[in-house]
Order: sequence, then C-alpha cells, then structure tokens
Amino acid sequence: MALALAETTTSNSIALDVEAVTHRYDLDGKELQVLDNVSLSVAPGEFVALLGPSGCGKSTLLRLAAGLETPTIGDVREDGRSITAPNPDRILVFQDATLFPWRTVRGNIAIGLEARGLIREREHRIDEVLRLVKLEGFADFYPHQLSGGMAQRAALARALVNDPKLLLLDEPFGKLDSLTRLRMQNELLDLWKNAGFTALLVTHDVEEALLLADRVIVLSDRPASIVAEIHVDQPHPRRRDDATLVALRRSLLEKLGISDDV
Ligand code: ADP
Ligand code: MG
Repeated sequence: MALALAETTTSNSIALDVEAVTHRYDLDGKELQVLDNVSLSVAPGEFVALLGPSGCGKSTLLRLAAGLETPTIGDVREDGRSITAPNPDRILVFQDATLFPWRTVRGNIAIGLEARGLIREREHRIDEVLRLVKLEGFADFYPHQLSGGMAQRAALARALVNDPKLLLLDEPFGKLDSLTRLRMQNELLDLWKNAGFTALLVTHDVEEALLLADRVIVLSDRPASIVAEIHVDQPHPRRRDDATLVALRRSLLEKLGISDDV
C-alpha cells in the first residue's frame, strides 16, 4: 500500500526548486524589486503554503513557478529543468474563478483540452473532474447561475482536467464566505491526497495554511525574502483548536509581526 502510494506520488507530481530568485518589475523605467534572493524547494507531492503581507510578491512567486514570468536573477526549476514557459503540468488557480461567461461549466472545463487538441481523447475526464468537485449536476449551467463556491469548484475542475503535477493556488478561497471556505479546504485536501500533485498555496489566512500544508513559509514585506519556515507534522484531518496548531498559529502570527491578542 505504502509502496503503491509512493509510486503514484512520483508520477503525478513534480519537484519545484526556486533557486536564489530576485525579481524586479520595470514600471515606466523605474525598477520595483519584488523578490529578494528567495530559495525554496517543494518536494514531489508536498503541500506548501506561503504566507506574507499584501503586496510582498506572493503572486509573483506563483507566476514564476507557472512560467508566466522569468526571474530577473536566479532560476526556477521543475524536476531540475528550468521553467521558461507555461505548461499544462503546472496550473495556476486564482482568487477569482475567471470562468468564461458565455460557456457552460462543461465548456469552461473543456478549454484546456480543446487548446491541446485532446478533447476527443480525454472528454471522459470532464465528467470525472465534475464528479471530483461535486458539480456533476451542473455541467450545463452558465457561470452566472453558480454560487461563488460552485464557481471556484468549476475553476478547480478546469485545472484538474489537465492532470497538473503542480497546482499553484493564489488565495483560491479568499472571496468565499467562511463556511464555504471550510468546505472547500477539506475538498482541496481530498483532491490533493487522491491526485497526488505538488501543491503551492498562497494564502493570508494563517489557519488555512496550518490546516492544509505540510510546511508553511513566511515571507517578509516587499521585496519578499523568507523569514521563517515551519513544518506541520500533524495528520489530517486537522482540528483548528488542536493544541499544536494553536501554538504554531501564535508563532506564525509573531513571525508576521502580528500579536496574538485577537
Ligand atoms: P502579493 O501577491 O504578495 O500581494 P504581487 O506579487 O502581486 O504581491 O505584487 C508585488 C508587487 O509587485 C506589488 O507592489 C505589485 O503592484 C507589483 N506588481 C505585480 N505585478 C506587476 C507587474 N506585472 N508589473 C509591475 N508591477 C507589478
Ligand atoms: Mg497576490
């Protein structure tokens, strides 16, 4: 059993290495430094959360991993190879579901397969991922007919249909109400356990990071550098009031420069 799991994990996931990355944007000839010598590694199948102040460079880090940007200095690698362009193995899911309003849920999920000419061969995957995200009854709905949680499930399905080996999540539940968020966190965890992809989650929610991730990395203000890293060696499902998690939460808030008197 353990062996079978290990085999699945290696084939369904990649190792991500961010090596001494400094990144600057050019704003009308003025440089804006966003990342300062950031190095981090995410092992195949690992779930890592990134926490940091608003505007520090978290989304930039995800875009570099997705291959949507190339670093000013340093290197970003998947399984040792430099990432230079987007690839369906590495998929970014945003806070806003960004579904095409003129396409149904099924039509939105089909986009990636259509673009890659795989729609005939893999059309059955659409029904599989619809089931995975519990939207099987909503395939023919249009985005405006969905709740926020359902739209975000559809966005997850659109990512999962490509069988990503690295799922990059940019505050994916940030706009959902708290009950929906809790449900989606559990669902994401199940998807991750079953599919075995490597996950890198940006969140500003300390509890979310602690409930989901194997490891939490804390970034400084812009330009972001790594200020702390903690391992969360707790089995799932985790309870937010678990004593270990409460202690870790306090320590993370301290590292973020926020006192734990709330
Ligand atoms: P975070 O996700 O942590 O809030 P971002 O990575 O989105 O931070 O942005 C970091 C900084 O870089 C912000 O000040 C933002 O305005 C700036 N920035 C982000 N993308 C670009 C871009 N394409 N061009 C110029 N500046 C950008
Ligand atoms: Mg961001």
